[in-house]
Amino acid sequence: MSGTDQSGVPGTAPRRCDRCSHEMVAIRMTVDGNDLIMESCQRCDVRRWHLAGREIELPEALAQVGEHVGRRR
Ligand SMILES: [Zn+2]
Repeated sequence: MSGTDQSGVPGTAPRRCDRCSHEMVAIRMTVDGNDLIMESCQRCDVRRWHLAGREIELPEALAQVGEHVGRRR
């Protein structure tokens, strides 16, 4: 397959779920200056994580967030 998606487009167009084509909800947050984006399909209860434009696994995402949030003074 040669799917050339638009890469690095600032406008957050809603993505469609791979499984059910339902519109996915995207939540964007910033972790250590990088964009961390969570996309979730409410039908399939599927979540996808993207860090700085590339897809990452959930444990990796949690590590990033936990590292950031877990800091205490
Ligand atoms: Zn879905």
